[in-house]
Parts: sequence; C-alpha cells; structure tokens
Amino acid sequence: MIILVINSGSSSLKYQVFDMQNETLLAKGLVERIGLNGSLLTHRPSGKNPVVMETDIPNHDTAIQMTVDALTHEEYGVIKSLKEIDAVGHRVAHGGDKFPDSAIINEKALADIRPLFEVAPLHNPPAVMGIEACQHMLPGVPQVAVFDTAFHQSIPEHAYMYALPYDLAKKYSLRRYGFHGTSHKYVAQRAADMLDRPLEELKIITCHLGNGASIAAVFHGNSIDTSMGFTPLEGLVMGTRVGDMDPAVVPFIMEKENMTPAQVSDFMNKKCGVLGVSGVSSDFRDLEEGAGQGNEQCRLALDMFAYRVKKYIGAYAAVMNGVDAIVFTAGLGENSSSMRKTVCNGLEYLGVRLDEQKNKGRGEADVSLPGAACHVMVIPTNEELMIARDTFRLAK
Ligand code: ADP
Repeated sequence: MIILVINSGSSSLKYQVFDMQNETLLAKGLVERIGLNGSLLTHRPSGKNPVVMETDIPNHDTAIQMTVDALTHEEYGVIKSLKEIDAVGHRVAHGGDKFPDSAIINEKALADIRPLFEVAPLHNPPAVMGIEACQHMLPGVPQVAVFDTAFHQSIPEHAYMYALPYDLAKKYSLRRYGFHGTSHKYVAQRAADMLDRPLEELKIITCHLGNGASIAAVFHGNSIDTSMGFTPLEGLVMGTRVGDMDPAVVPFIMEKENMTPAQVSDFMNKKCGVLGVSGVSSDFRDLEEGAGQGNEQCRLALDMFAYRVKKYIGAYAAVMNGVDAIVFTAGLGENSSSMRKTVCNGLEYLGVRLDEQKNKGRGEADVSLPGAACHVMVIPTNEELMIARDTFRLAK
C-alpha cells in the first residue's frame, strides 16, 4: 500500500510517500511560498538527487498537482502513475473534542473540522485546502485526517477543565486540548519498543522540545495530561510563545500598551518566549552561543526554559505516581545534549542517572546509566510515519 502524507500550511505544503509494506520512505518534498512570489518545489526522492522546481504556484490545487507530477515523473518519480496512491493522510492541527482518533475524511468529518477554524485560524483552514486539493486531484482515493489533538482526548476532565464557570467553559468549548499528539504518541510507543516492555505497563513523560514545545504524561499508553492547552500557547517557555503566566498580565499589557485582543494574541505568540527574554533569537543554537559569550539574557532564557521543563516533569511524575522513562524529542530535545543535561540535573530523586558520554551522542538512544530506575531516552520524532500508519490502519 502506497500512502501519501500531506502537511499543509497556509503558504507551504510538505509531503512524504511511504510504501507501507515495510514502512519505507520513497520520497519527500516541500512546496514553499504558495501564492507568493518566488514559489518553488523541492522534491527529494530516496536514493536520488533532489530536484528544485521554481515556478508560479498560485494555490494548493497547483501545489498538489506539482507534487503528483514530481512523484510520477519518469526520471525522478517514485511511482508509475497516480493510481498507485492508495490513500492520503493529512495532518490536521485541531480536532476539538469531536475526534479522539484519526478519521476517514467525508462530508461529516469536514463539517466537524470547519467550525474549528475559529480556534485554529492559522492551521485548520490550510489543512482543509490541502484536503480539497487532494479530493480534486485524486478523486475516490480514501483520505484520512490525523489530528494533533486526538492523542490527548484521553485526558480526564479534572485535568482538561479550566476553573472557569462551568457553563461558560462548555458554551465556548474552553478546555485543554493539547497538541503535538502525533509526536508524543510516536515517541512513547517507540520508547516502549526500545525498552522491550509493553506500553500498557509504563509511565512515560514525553518532552517535545522544538520551536513549539510541549510535555505529556503518558500513563499506560494514554495521554493523561499535557502542557499545551486551549491553544498551543500554554505551558513551556517556547521559541516565541510566552507559555504559562498569570492571566492578569494580559489585560494589564493591553491597557498599558494600547493593544487590541488580536494584537496581544500576536504579541504572546510571536514576540515572547526565549526570543523575548534574550532579545537575541528564538533559535536555541544562537542562545547557547550567546550564553557562551557571556550574554546574560541568553543565559536567563535558557535557564527559564530548562526550569519550566523540569517543573513539568516533577508535576507529571507526581500525577502518575512515578516515571519509568523521560523521552526527549524534536529539534532541541534531539540535538541539545546540554539542555538534556541541565533538565536532568537534580532529578536523581526520580531515579534519573544520566550517562554523560551517551548523552553526547546522536540519534536514537537510551542515555541513562545501567540500572537507573528511570530511563532517559532520546528519540527522533517521526510524525509523518505515524500519520502514514494511522492512514494505513483506517484506509485498508
Ligand atoms: P518546529 O518543528 O517547532 O519548528 P523543531 O522541532 O524543528 O521545531 O526545532 C527547532 C528548534 O530546535 C530551534 O529552536 C533550534 O534552535 C533547535 N535546535 C536544532 N538543532 C539544535 C542543536 N544542535 N542545538 C540546540 N538547539 C537545536
């Protein structure tokens, strides 16, 4: 079974193609600057040289058309014809409380996704554009939506509710949804595989630390809490997002700085986080370099980030009554050994004992010392493979 995985943004579209017989990646690619000047497609067939095509790409229909042309091209294509694509899996950020699992896309599913544009205005509309473009291009091919929120639908009510008046919370569906679910689910399962133990027996804390960052408490295979909330703004200090803070700060800034709701939302999403604290960059490599050269705000931003991660680990160990493994993933979690070391330092009470040599290595690894009661693991995430697996499961 050949599966096309689509991750569609407002001006970009990423794709990967898998042969599910042995889960091999046949090709991946990126369409950039859709609807803008200088649009281009970069196609990377496995085992062949990448191809870059610069041409006018006015909309998502054209982006999908070009993707399919590249995939079937006689020189750099990876399939012979469109007909070989058995199903398409789409990443959809927000599934609200309607989707506890991935779902086959039909009129009913689309009717449940569309009202969520209001809560995910940047992410859900382009996902639907990608879905519609595939419906035009590949009529009759089953399509599946895989939601960032679905894995967290197992969070119990006492953990997902905010302490707002109950009727108001229900009226506007104001609650914790959580995001990065596909990633948390993938690395939790992978950790269980690596430990050679059933996921259903394990208490795992998964730390997805990228530009956007979140932590999840995965108890016996189910997410029972996560740091992102109603939107991806809550929780950890992030690249440019503020994370947890006293909500009273919001009206205070709005009044003092004369901001509208839209402006303050933009501010908290794009101007805060480690970028705001450091005044230098949202990229952790720049911060580590800055801190190394004595920039105190860079140091402070890194310290605040690590402290918040540690605080959540403590909280999630508490709600699970222990932890068997802490997993680090995404750009920073996978690559920054110094961040992992800082976070783990002082977690000995949980049974964490980091192997400093192994921690400096690269790629998938258990980086704890032999016999440590709590494993520390580095697992590169693979959201696309997870989407392909769910699509395979539902479409076959
Ligand atoms: P997203 O998908 O949310 O955009 P990624 O998971 O790609 O984010 O992570 C991006 C972040 O990872 C960037 O802030 C970058 O600084 C950080 N990162 C990547 N490689 C390294 C590294 N070697 N050391 C420190 N940070 C890194």
